Amino acid sequence: MGKETQEKKAPSLKDSLQFIKGVGPKKAETLKRRNLECVKDCLFYIPFRYEDRSKTGTISTLTAGEHISFSAEISATGSYYIGRRKKVFEIALQDETGVVRAKYYQFNATYMKDKFKIGTRVIASGKPQPNRRAGSRLELVHPLIEIDDGSENSSVETGRIIPVYQTTEGLHLKSLRSIIHNVIETYSGLVDDFLPQDIIERNGFPPLSQAIREAHFPSEEYSLDALNRFKTNAQERIVFDELFLIQLALFYKRKQTKNITKGFKLNTRGPLIKKFMQGLAFDLTNAQTKVLAHIMDDLEKPTPMNRLIQGDVGSGKTIVALITLLTAVDNGYQGALMAPTEILAEQHFHNLSSDCAKLGICIELVTGSLPAKEKKQALERVREGISHIVVGTHALIQKEIQFDRLGIAVIDEQHRFGVLQREALNKKGTSPHILVMTATPIPRSLALTIYGDLDVSLIDELPPGRKPIKTQVYSENKRDDVYGFVAKEISKGRQAYIVCPLIEETEKMDLKTATEVYEYIKERFPHINANLVHGKIKSADRRQIMAEFKEGKVQALVATTVIEVGVHVPNATLMIVEHAERFGLSQLHQLRGRIGRGEHASHCLLVAYYPLSDEGKARLEAMQESQDGFYIAEKDLEIRGPGDFLGTRQSGLPDLKVANLIRDIKVLEIARKEAQDLLQTHPDLNAPELLKLKNELLTEMGGRMGLMDII
Ligand code: ADP
Ligand code: MG
Repeated sequence: MGKETQEKKAPSLKDSLQFIKGVGPKKAETLKRRNLECVKDCLFYIPFRYEDRSKTGTISTLTAGEHISFSAEISATGSYYIGRRKKVFEIALQDETGVVRAKYYQFNATYMKDKFKIGTRVIASGKPQPNRRAGSRLELVHPLIEIDDGSENSSVETGRIIPVYQTTEGLHLKSLRSIIHNVIETYSGLVDDFLPQDIIERNGFPPLSQAIREAHFPSEEYSLDALNRFKTNAQERIVFDELFLIQLALFYKRKQTKNITKGFKLNTRGPLIKKFMQGLAFDLTNAQTKVLAHIMDDLEKPTPMNRLIQGDVGSGKTIVALITLLTAVDNGYQGALMAPTEILAEQHFHNLSSDCAKLGICIELVTGSLPAKEKKQALERVREGISHIVVGTHALIQKEIQFDRLGIAVIDEQHRFGVLQREALNKKGTSPHILVMTATPIPRSLALTIYGDLDVSLIDELPPGRKPIKTQVYSENKRDDVYGFVAKEISKGRQAYIVCPLIEETEKMDLKTATEVYEYIKERFPHINANLVHGKIKSADRRQIMAEFKEGKVQALVATTVIEVGVHVPNATLMIVEHAERFGLSQLHQLRGRIGRGEHASHCLLVAYYPLSDEGKARLEAMQESQDGFYIAEKDLEIRGPGDFLGTRQSGLPDLKVANLIRDIKVLEIARKEAQDLLQTHPDLNAPELLKLKNELLTEMGGRMGLMDII
């Protein structure tokens, strides 16, 4: 009976892929792994790249520099080293007319061996080039090699520009392409435009159904280059739709936060604030004053604050946090400060303790590694409202913790926290005011998209007297010189950080581990008081070591990235980063931000292992070029792309299906503007011509962005 109803039903975009030609139950399962379940998923599964298959030939017709596709069989594979570190994977391709080699430089050996088995039939495309070291023999470097699984669909496969999709294990590109082709043939006509007509016209967009067809199987008018840059109007239309919906959703979310009436006003001129400001040892920077004004403004309003502070490393965010928290205490509420690591939480606790003691208020530290008994007592004090300010890690958002009256929550270093954690903290109070602080400056365009539901303020100035940091990249074989600096700085009374990458026991290779470096320093400079911290050291011991480093007793601190954020020791003037090529750019910037905090000149020495990847090189160059966090962030985004930049799923942004926030920045700006304009005239999207849009918004964004109860 099931089959009968299936046949009778009119085709719908919600149809399961299982009943598409070329898909059975097994393939349907595989497709599911790529989140492809229904026809609509497939239509919007846009290729990430295109390949020119308009010219086909045989191996004997290969010509240097001319792009071509040909059928062949894999006749041999193997890998070998060139130089000391660079490994090559080679595939020999053979047809009746000859043999040609294909080379891959960056590869996963297991994957390659598994995928390219001898005897497999393939379709290869690429641009042959002469190998000068092999008598100008033609070869293919990083060609596209597709398994030819024998499925028939030749008009889809050759003689045109063809789409390249992300595949998954057990799903060949060719069969995926054929499935998508079938889906488009049958269903693309069902796709309806949900965009208001004037937006379509204003931007010269094609109808959505046409855009989908062209984005998958472009007609001849589109060039390969434009397609691969995602600059055709078909692709832009699809990107626009996605970004437009996100922008609309963000505006609604923002409105929702603003509409909550449960919040409470705070008096921002209480006695604690006054006393604290009077006792301040330095003047606030203009930037700090400006940002505090924004915050106080928010707190005086009955709607909860939801503000993001961006400020480069060392710009003085902590004091802004403290003043904010004191406002809560002044008004009889508690304040919470949440940090991403124990070290940072401990450090904040340590730093704020003396201020709190002077003001006569109680501060509490709550972390996961607190001994059970102490923790229980701490939690009790928090629950009873004896503690005024609570500092902690994500332990703060766990179930067991209960506040008496949480008024303000400050989250330090936002990039480690997602929206969900933010909401969890939110639930600890009746809509407390929330301040999020981040040292990873996020380019404006992205901030608008990610934090569309937050107000953003910038601390765009460092406290006076900061000395610029000299940054220099060294090759690993200059290690002796590099460590010579350690002894030199220490003899001048300064201190040094040496940071090593975190490594798994299993991937030891020739990495310098923190322990090795520590041993090396002890042996070479027995007079230097060095110590070692990493994640496996007990937190009590770690605290002890950090305290000794702060006091200057420990002169050289060898560490893994546990010190990445927040540690403040002005007398430390030297930072050495081992295997700097392995660190991300913003991470390097964070690390470097540990120095240059006092009156003495500081140096950052990046020890790199050659040969470097292009990305690695670009990162190290950026570090030498600039000390400006915003410049670094832009570079980082450029090098890594937004997905990585934001961390997986951490940004709270819905996963983007098609759009790429860097590549599509122009479209993003247009989408934002159009969304804004539309909501100006139709705040509730209630006009009949907007019905489809509203439905689409709810289907696509409702669940992901929690919009259900807003519109
Ligand atoms: P970050 O923004 O990286 O969290 P911190 O809050 O740790 O920076 O501040 C770094 C150091 O600068 C701290 O020792 C702090 O006391 C100091 N500081 C903050 N604001 C000022 C200021 N206006 N003038 C001088 N020093 C300041
Ligand atoms: Mg900080």
